[in-house]
Amino acid sequence: MNYTCPRCGKPVEQRRDTTAGLVSALLHFAFGSFQCKNCGTIPLSEFPAEVRSKVILAPVLLVVGAIAVVVVSISAFVCEHLWR
Ligand SMILES: [Zn+2]
Repeated sequence: MNYTCPRCGKPVEQRRDTTAGLVSALLHFAFGSFQCKNCGTIPLSEFPAEVRSKVILAPVLLVVGAIAVVVVSISAFVCEHLWR
């Protein structure tokens, strides 16, 4: 997802630590700061509330989606193999 800089309006990049574990990667993804080529590091608090809620919701939705896929797969497996 791309976001625009609240200071200059140019696109910003989200900083992510790819070596971190899943949980800390998600935390970085949700609460990490952004990097603007013009302005440097922009904390999430400088973005409008609308953008902040999207930035925080995106990884939550990813996790919920992943859990839903696992649950659906397990129940499909259970129906297929155990309930006959
Ligand atoms: Zn900027």
